[in-house]
Amino acid sequence: MKIEAKYCPNCGSNNIKWVNPVMWSLWICYDCGYEGPIIIDDKKLADEIRKNYLKAKNQKEEG
Ligand SMILES: [Zn+2]
Repeated sequence: MKIEAKYCPNCGSNNIKWVNPVMWSLWICYDCGYEGPIIIDDKKLADEIRKNYLKAKNQKEEG
């Protein structure tokens, strides 16, 4: 069985958790607070998102 990593589409973190409300599936990211049905399982893409997210975050903190 293949273990698939899941990543937040907003910040690229894998610190996410699937919750199961009544109607639909929902993912919550503990790093950026993202909530939604969409996640990504592509590590390469997640790395890119992560990089851009941290860069934007740093810029915000500096400014
Ligand atoms: Zn996130």
